[in-house]
Formats: sequence, structure tokens, C-alpha cells
Amino acid sequence: MMKNSEVKNIRFKLLAPFIASIIIILLSNLWNMYIFQQDSLREFSSSTTKQLYNNFNEAIKADIELFESSLYFISHNPLLQELWIEKNRDAIIAESTLIYEKLKQDHHVTHFYFHDINAINYLRVHKPNRHSDIIKRASLTEAITSQKISANIEFGTLGQFVLRAVIPWEIEGEIVGYIELGEEIDHILKRISVENKYDLILAVKKEYLYENNLENAEYFLNHKTELSQDNNSIILNKTSKEIHPRVIELLNTPKSNDETLYKSGDETILVAKLSIEDPQKNSIVSLAYIMDVTEHVRQSKSLLMKTIWVSLLLGLFVLNFYFLYSKKLQKSLLRNKNKLIEIIKERDEHLEESKKRYQTLFDKTADALLIIDNNKIIDCNQSTLNMLGYETKQQLIESPPSKLSPIFQSNGDSSKIKANEMITIAIEKGSHRFEWEHVRKNGQIFPVEVLLTAIPLKDVNLMHVVWRDITQQKKVAAALEKQAYYDILTKLPNRRLLLDRLKQALITSQRHDYYGAVLFIDLDRFKGFNDALGHVSGDLLLIEAAKRIETSIRDEDTVSRFGGDEFVVLLKNVGTVLDNAGIIAKKIATKIQCAFNKSFIIQGHELQITLSVGIAMFPFNNQNVEDVIKNADTAMYDAKENGRNQISFYMKQMHKQVLKRLTMEKDLHNAINKGELDIFYQPQLDGDGKVVTLEALIRWKHPEFGFVDPEYLIAMAEDTGFIYEIGDFVLNKSIKDIQNINQEFNSSINLSINISVYQFRQENFVKTIENLIKQYNIEENFLTLEVTEHIAIDNFEETIEKFEEIRCLGVRLSLDDFGTGYSSLNYLKRLPLNELKIDKSFVFDIESDPQVALLVKSIIQISHQFGLFVVAEGVETTAQLQFLLEEECDVFQGFHFCHPITKTKLHSYLSSHQLKS
Ligand code: C2E
Ligand code: CA
Ligand code: CA
Repeated sequence: MMKNSEVKNIRFKLLAPFIASIIIILLSNLWNMYIFQQDSLREFSSSTTKQLYNNFNEAIKADIELFESSLYFISHNPLLQELWIEKNRDAIIAESTLIYEKLKQDHHVTHFYFHDINAINYLRVHKPNRHSDIIKRASLTEAITSQKISANIEFGTLGQFVLRAVIPWEIEGEIVGYIELGEEIDHILKRISVENKYDLILAVKKEYLYENNLENAEYFLNHKTELSQDNNSIILNKTSKEIHPRVIELLNTPKSNDETLYKSGDETILVAKLSIEDPQKNSIVSLAYIMDVTEHVRQSKSLLMKTIWVSLLLGLFVLNFYFLYSKKLQKSLLRNKNKLIEIIKERDEHLEESKKRYQTLFDKTADALLIIDNNKIIDCNQSTLNMLGYETKQQLIESPPSKLSPIFQSNGDSSKIKANEMITIAIEKGSHRFEWEHVRKNGQIFPVEVLLTAIPLKDVNLMHVVWRDITQQKKVAAALEKQAYYDILTKLPNRRLLLDRLKQALITSQRHDYYGAVLFIDLDRFKGFNDALGHVSGDLLLIEAAKRIETSIRDEDTVSRFGGDEFVVLLKNVGTVLDNAGIIAKKIATKIQCAFNKSFIIQGHELQITLSVGIAMFPFNNQNVEDVIKNADTAMYDAKENGRNQISFYMKQMHKQVLKRLTMEKDLHNAINKGELDIFYQPQLDGDGKVVTLEALIRWKHPEFGFVDPEYLIAMAEDTGFIYEIGDFVLNKSIKDIQNINQEFNSSINLSINISVYQFRQENFVKTIENLIKQYNIEENFLTLEVTEHIAIDNFEETIEKFEEIRCLGVRLSLDDFGTGYSSLNYLKRLPLNELKIDKSFVFDIESDPQVALLVKSIIQISHQFGLFVVAEGVETTAQLQFLLEEECDVFQGFHFCHPITKTKLHSYLSSHQLKS
């Protein structure tokens, strides 16, 4: 910051050279002025001297011209010529005196001579008494020699200083004499002095004075001369009363011309000397002049003074201006300085304020903020601590950032790898926003939205992190998604979610090369119920129906309410072989239908609901979601047309399958006749390892397709009505076979035969059994009929009746596949059964699932309580057997002992095993 004194200093630093230069300019100006004044005085003196000389010469010249013209007129005066020829002296005197008087008066002529041709003076008109002397003066001599007018200033022997002009007097072509006019220089001097306002002094060197006779000279000069005895000059004429001492001094100097200014007291005089030479160039007379130049010097001085004053004033003005200006400059500097201080202060305040604001913003902002430097937390705000559940900043700062994330994100990404990726993106793009999962101090994982901003500073790479806890947001989003993707009434996924998932399923099935299926389910006659019982009942029915469908399918599959009474089931993966896949799909559809066999109790009303199911398989060609749904829908309508409670495939997709099936159906007709059907037997052993029973299992080796899946075969037979024929075939053949075996091995092994629901429901079924017993003379308990729970579903009371009739015939009844259907204990209690077969799926899970193990244990216990014989099917391992033995299961069947085998193979098997006798 600039202090006031510094501003002053600057001012004086600027001022010193400024004043110095002004003084130098002033002084040099004054010196110039002085020199100029001196020069101008000198110039003045010399020009004045020149002027004097000129004036003097001019005056002489003018007088000479005057003399010459006067002489011309005199010489041509006829009277005088006549008188001269006559030599009439008195008449000449009389006549010329008149002329002389006139000339004297008008032109200061003081001398008027007539000379004869021999230079002898004839008459001095101004002094007639003196004459006849020889005149030797230069002017006359020259006129005689040149025979022309001659004029000269001449210094006479007596000290006269005279201007003379001589004209040769010519009368009738003959020189008769000479006329001479002269004037004393005194007049000229006086005239010049008056005209030019200076005093003139004429001095002559003493040596030129005739015989040095001063007294004579003074006499002739007619005035007193002034001279100094020491001087070699003598003052002849002067126009002033006093002679300045300087003049004497000047006259005594050998220099011919000189001028000088002389100061005495207040006055200044100019003194100058002019040398006047004789024709032999001898300086004989000095003409000195004295001029009072006091006024001139005074004027010049006053001009100088004026100039000095003006310069001083000008300097003062400039200084004053400078002071004023510098004052202004200083003020403006001060003002600027103050302004600068103000600006800096303001900026500082701004900075401080913005710093504070930033700190407040950082501390108080609702978003969690964090600053990371080189993978180390260096700062965070309260929101961060609150969100992560840390008490102090220190705690958080000390923990590594990696501790804030779980090892894996919920989508399976490694947090560490992914976090580095995110940081790289943020550095590349400047900032990066993404969702992330963090861990609170208490271990709770929660979702956040992260905004990573790279702050590239010198040397460091700071990361500014903004976190927003989006747990709530996610919950809301989930709720919204539920609303958007789920049906409010049934809580099942809605059409939208179904289509979404189907889209995914289409892609993955294509990629992984397996088949999926869509079951389009429609409740038969729902509209009628709805109209009759009202919407509330209708809704309750739908809710119940949804539950039943849902419990019939696997977790990975999706049931959705598609609209109204339509449900769509998506089976993502039903196998890699199309017809098998179709069968599985159909099985599931059947299972769903079975789930509806039990009547619904809705607001006191007992309702029997059936379903029509359309199945569409995927993927085929470039099917899209809409195609698949449309196909399933078409198939569903087909099912409806076939008389409701039906399952239909969409023909296009199932074309091959259907063709195959048609072929098989056709072939099945002749299979029995052709001897393609066979029966395999699978032994059942008791706890001691004794073969007690053989289960008859149908086999069809199709000439084209090979072994047909028995379940598929039975389903096809049921569908086509061949089941009765097949049933009879199995019954007859197996009874014969086993009776033969018993005879052969002398054993009493029992026979177990699977009976289809359709077979059982035949009105004459009991009769058929009765006939067989008679026909083959079957012993009591030799034959066991294996039935499934489905048998009882439709007509429970009737089933019980039939069961009892069968039992009366000495035929045992076994409930097959226990655990896969309703498995109601009610059944066990009320149905007159002899045996229960735990389904192989339970046995399979005994080792791995403790709950299944517990269930199996309970089934065995309860069955025993009801007096039922328990058979475990699908025993494949020693461990399973061990468990079942411990739980006191009665009989065991499965690959652990033997696969279903041909009658031929059975012979060798039985030969090596203990048999029931
Ligand atoms: P099911 O009555 O439960 O027959 C037992 C099935 O379990 C047989 O399949 C048999 O091969 C299989 N199995 C036996 N031990 C094991 C084992 O340890 N592990 C495994 N994984 N499986 C074992 P299969 O022969 O394919 O018969 C399938 C189904 O077809 C039978 O199930 C039965 O419901 C039906 N079926 C077979 N033959 C006839 C028949 O003559 N009449 C009727 N109505 N249905 C039949
Ligand atoms: Ca069976
Ligand atoms: Ca079974």
C-alpha cells in the first residue's frame, strides 16, 4: 500500500529535476538576453559611428556640390569675367563681396578667393587686404593640374580645417585664373551635431600645426583652443561645452577608429573616434563624438529586465501550474490509492466472505461432501458423518476410503475396481455422476448417488465428492415401480413387466439356445361369475386364482395378470429340445389347471373354475415380444374352441412337435399290434434287501424316434384315448410275466402297476380288475395299483367307493408321487389306501435339505400312524437308503438297487438277489 509520504516523495522527486530545468532555461535565457543586449549596444555603437561618418561625408559632399554649382555660376558671371579681363580690382571686390555675402548667409561660405593662373592669390573676398601670396594648397594644385573642379577638406597650416572647392576660370576657351570657395568645418560639425544629437570634437595632431604656433592658430580660428599639454593633439572644434575625459584618452590612443561605452554615475555615453586622413593617407585629424546613450542603455536594460521579469513570471506561472497540477496529481494519486485500498479491502472481504460461505456451505449442506486427496480422505462435512454414522471427522479421516464400500456392489462388481474406473472417468471428463453402494459404520449397506469432481491443482489431484443418500428415493422408486409394474389387485406383475421380462427372456433364450414358453391363461366363464356375483366377488376370485397360479410355477418363472381374467405365465427355460420343452410347458399348464380342480369358496359360494391355456414356445426366427404373446393368445382361443378346460399349443411353433406327435399318435395305434410296446420292471426291496415287489413301467421304442418318454407316452395315450388299450396291455402282460417269474423262481414277488386317472375313471374299471383276478387267478395282495392324487380330485366320494371295491378284490392301492400334488393329510385319512410312495424328488433332496429330510421323516411317521406301508422311490445313494432305513421306511426302489429292466434282464437280476417267498 502507498503511504501519503511516498506520494509526496514522488511529487518532489518529480519536482527537483523540473525546477532545475526551469532554472537552467531561465539562466540560459537571461545570459542570452544579456549577450544580446551587449551585442545590440555594440551594434548600436558601431552603426552610430558609421552613421556619423556617413553623415559627415554626406554633409561634405552636399556642400561640395553646392560649392561646385556656386563656383560654376560665379565663373560664368559675365560681369566678373569682364572685370577680371580688365583687372578692375575694386569693381571685382564690389561685385564678389555681394556674392560672398549671399553665400555666407545661405551656405556658411567663409572663404572666397580669386587666383591667377600661377596660383598667386589675386583677391581674398572675405579678407581683401591680404593678397598676392602663393597658394600651395592641395585643392588648388589639383585643380591646376587636372584643369577640372577639385574639392577637398583641407587642414591649413594655421590649423584651419576647411572644406575647399576650386574651379578653373575659363573665359572664351582660355584659363584665366581660379575661383575658390571654402567653408570652415565648424558649421558642418554643428549641423551634424544638431541633426544627430551628439557632440562632436575635432582634434588635430600638434605636429601638423604650422610652427606649433597656437596663438596664431587661435587667432585664425577666431576661438580658443583646448588642449592638454601632455597631449600631442589639440582640440580644434567642439560642439559641447565640456570635453569628456574619456575623449582625451581616446584621442591619445594610436588606434585610428575606436568606440566605447563609458559609464559614469547614472549616465552612459558612447565615445567614438574617427580618423580623417590627408591625401597621403596620413591620419591628421580625429573626429571624436560623444553621445549620451543613457536612455538607450536604460531602454535596453529595461527590456532586459522586462524579459527577466517575464521569464520569472513565466517560470513562476509554470511552477505554480506544476504545483497546482502536482497537487491535483497527488490528490488523484491519493484518490487512486484509496480506491485501490478500497478495492483490495473489498476483494479481501469478498474472498473472506466467499471462503466463509464456502465453509458454511460445505459444513451445512444437506448433501454429504468429502474431499479426497490421493485416495485419502482429507475433509468431510457433518452430513457425511451423519450419513455414514461416524461420530467425529477424525474417525472418518483415519479410515481408508475402501472401508466405506462393501467388497462387492450388488450387481457383482468389485467395489475397488469399479471405484477406480469411476475416478478415471471423473478425471477424464472433469466430473462423473453415478450410483453406488456404501457401508455405514454399523455395517448397513445403502445406496447413494455420487458426484465425483476432479479438482486438478498444482501437484495434487483432489477429488470433490458429493454424496446423496438415495435409500428413500430408491424405496419410492421401488414403490413407483411396483405401481408401474404390478397389478394392484392381485399384486402380480402387470402386462408391462411381463413384456419387459419376455423381452429379456427372448434375448437370453436365443443366446443360450434353449426354449421358453408363454402360457396364456383365461378363466373359463369368468364373466358369468362376475356378472352373477358382483365385482367384489369377481375381484376376490381373481386374487385367489392368481395365488393358485403363482403356487403352481417355479420361482424363476413369472405369472402376470395380463388384464381382466387373463393371466400370462412366462417360463424362461423349459429345455433345449423342442418337443420335450413343449411337454414340460404343457405339464406346467396342466399343473396350473390341476390347481383349479379344487373348488373356490368365494363369499360363501362354492365355485368350480376351469382354465383354458394357450402355449406359445419361443424363440423362433425373428419373433418379437408381441408375436409370442399373440401366438399364445391365439392358442388360448384354440383351447377355448376345443371345449374349455383345455391346453393348446400355438400350431406354428409347435408344428414340428405336433407333426411328430401326430406321427406318434398314428404309430401308437399300431404299436401294440407291432409289438413295439414293452414292459420294464423295477424291483422294490425291503429293509433286508429282499425283492418284494416289481413295478411295471411301460416302454415304447418308436422305430423312428427311439424310446419315447413314458410320461409323454402316457400323456399322449390319455389325450388320444389309447390309454385304455395300453392300460389293458400293461395289466395283462405284467401279470403274466410276474406270475411266470414267481413260478420260475418259486417266489411270491408282488406286482405294482401304474393306473392312469382316465383308466381309473372308466366305469367298468373295477370290473376289469375283477376279471383279471379271475382270469389269472390272482392271489390276494399280489397286485398293487399305483394311483396319483389327481384321481381323488374330481369326485372324492366316488373315488373312495371305487377304492373300497378294489380293495375288496384283494388288490392293494398305493398313492404314487406323494408330495407333488396337494398332499393333503385328509386324503391319507379318508382314502382307503394300503401304501404311500414318497416321490423321488423328496428322496433326492434328503441329504441336501434338512427340511425335506424332516418332511420325509414326518410322512413316514404319519403314514405308519395311518397304517400305511411306505415306499421310497428314486433311492440313488447309500446315504439316502441309510436315512430311510433309520426312519423305518418299509420298502425302497431306485437306481441304487436297479434301473427299470427288461424281463430278460430281470431273470439274471432276480437270480442274484433274495426274493420274497
Ligand atoms: P412313476 O410311476 O413315478 O415311475 C417311477 C419312475 O421313476 C420311472 O420312470 C422310473 O424309471 C423312475 N425311477 C426309478 N428309480 C429311479 C431313481 O432312482 N432315480 C430316478 N431319477 N428315477 C427313477 P419312467 O419309467 O420313465 O416312468 C415315468 C412315469 O410314467 C411313471 O412314474 C408313471 O407315472 C408313468 N408310467 C410308466 N408306465 C406306466 C404305465 O404302464 N401306465 C401308466 N398309467 N403310467 C405309467
Ligand atoms: Ca409308479
Ligand atoms: Ca412315482
